[in-house]
Amino acid sequence: VKKWGGRGAAVGQLVPCWLRPRDRTRSPDVLSNTSRPTTLPLRIPPRISITQADADSYEAENGVSSGHTPLGSQSPSLTLHTSFTQGQRRESFLYRSDSDYDMSPKTVSRNSSLASEGHTAEDFIVTPFAQVLASLRSVRSNFTILANVATPTIKRSPFGGMCVSPRPTLSDQQYHQLALDTLEELDWCLDQLETIQTHRSVSEMASNKFKRMLNRELSHLSEMSRSGNQVSEYISSTFMDKQNEVEIPSPTLKDKSMSHISGVRKLSHSSSLSSASMPRFGVNTDHEDELAKELEDLDKWSFNVFKVAEYSNNRPLSCIMYAIFQERELLKTFRIPVDTFVTYVMTLEDHYHGNVAYHNSLHAADVTQSTHVLLSTPALNAAFTDLEILAALFAAAIHDVDHPGVSNQFLINTNSELALMYNDESVLENHHLAVGFKLLHQENCDIFQNLTKRQRQSLRKLVIEMVLATDMSKHMTLLADLKTMVETKKVTSSGVLLLDHYTERIQLLKNMVHCADLSNPTKPLPLYRQWTERIMEEFFRQGDKERERGMEISAMCDKHTASVEKSQVGFIDYIVHPLWETWADLVHPDAQELLDTLEENREWYLNTMPQSPSPPPDRHLQHDRFQFEITLEDLEHNNYNHCVPVLHLL
Ligand SMILES: [Zn+2]
Repeated sequence: VKKWGGRGAAVGQLVPCWLRPRDRTRSPDVLSNTSRPTTLPLRIPPRISITQADADSYEAENGVSSGHTPLGSQSPSLTLHTSFTQGQRRESFLYRSDSDYDMSPKTVSRNSSLASEGHTAEDFIVTPFAQVLASLRSVRSNFTILANVATPTIKRSPFGGMCVSPRPTLSDQQYHQLALDTLEELDWCLDQLETIQTHRSVSEMASNKFKRMLNRELSHLSEMSRSGNQVSEYISSTFMDKQNEVEIPSPTLKDKSMSHISGVRKLSHSSSLSSASMPRFGVNTDHEDELAKELEDLDKWSFNVFKVAEYSNNRPLSCIMYAIFQERELLKTFRIPVDTFVTYVMTLEDHYHGNVAYHNSLHAADVTQSTHVLLSTPALNAAFTDLEILAALFAAAIHDVDHPGVSNQFLINTNSELALMYNDESVLENHHLAVGFKLLHQENCDIFQNLTKRQRQSLRKLVIEMVLATDMSKHMTLLADLKTMVETKKVTSSGVLLLDHYTERIQLLKNMVHCADLSNPTKPLPLYRQWTERIMEEFFRQGDKERERGMEISAMCDKHTASVEKSQVGFIDYIVHPLWETWADLVHPDAQELLDTLEENREWYLNTMPQSPSPPPDRHLQHDRFQFEITLEDLEHNNYNHCVPVLHLL
């Protein structure tokens, strides 16, 4: 049984690059696929500090050596390893070798000697640009030793002054070895830069690599069994953008004006509300005390949104928005009249469909509350402006409004009006945005009425970016960008993540809301299980509709064949865990507990998975359909990969 223990296992086994056996051989054809990281002795992303930390406290806390010397024994980086010892955690597939054919002597040697040699820092950087950056940094560091020059660190680090670490004395042999290794490192960098496809962005390089790796994982999964094939198909069709190859006969179109945003209904809550008569939690309820008790957990990851729905007259979104905006004093900061606020959130909540099993206002309330908790994570303390916080919470609240309970692909395949309106591109997400903003125009609903024009413009831009990023087909790109950000930040000499550019801040916010949207498996098991039941119910209803229409039933939507437990394990392994692992790196150590819960929940679903039925002994003699299915399932126990339907991949 694999444990999530990659990083933990490497603790305290740092071997300086120049003492490791020479095992690197390059051949041009494997170069571009070889994940060949660096000899940098930095092993985890430094804790993010938004304001500039002073040198001493920063180094003490993070154990980052200002000189980045590869001479491990003197490096204070040993102190930072201890933080990983307690959490023996398995790493996601992103840390596996990039290619099946990546069998350079180096790779073989690295894999076979893991136990004795331990991981080195290089094993932990997976995005291409970050690898080159880290490698160059390592070359620079080796150079200072080889040339025996005092290191002017002023330009390269916020710590200032000269590097004071004692200059080690190298024997002639060590010196020679270090020189050779350094040259080889530099050659590797040059090779990378020479073969780089310059028309591709850093972001594309990383996301293409991740997609390639996920594709390989999924094709293995799909070869294992029929249910594995279905899970794999589901992940591939939901979380990766690809060209649509479906051809569906078009039903006749209703003649209807396109400029109209459908789904917006006239509802008025204004008459019943005034600032004077506002209930304690913004909603009328007979269970105020119970509600108050549940809301005490508002800042916690274990918050029970189901209970809040129960005690708030089934108004979880209104109630949670009200509580969060009060706690964060956003009504005051942005001069939002309380009756306008409550009118808006009630109207918004009314535009979620109560009869949709998963994508209803309970899910919106959950994502809003989860975003609220993530915004308060200590590592990001003071990272965001009030306007950005307002935008993130608003985005979370509206991000699924008027969701019909079917997927983008279903809307496209059925030539729905929404798909026509948005030209098949992020159909639902565009619609959620349009409805969310349109509702501000209803009577006494403009909660942004007292913002300046500029504030309104920035807010709108932020919200649009965040909600569009909840389109699950953008997942791999988002993850690759986040990972590149974490890894390139990790190797900057400053060690301080400065979020002073719009692109970095919005990228974090987009990922934050996306993480909140994919947070079910990181919640306490009883909550997670309720979410799973709901999403499966929604999927099955879509499957029923597809069956009625004689369409092909989408992956995981066929109630007769879907494997719920298996799909959750696959969902965690290929989507949720890689994402949260990366987020946890970013905010280390804030999200460690959440990763533990995720692992426990995965175990639970794994152990709950029903066993495949054992085939009857005479199965080869029969040829009916039923027998054929059992035989496919039986493949799980054999290696007859060749007869499994090939999965549609990118
Ligand atoms: Zn959602």
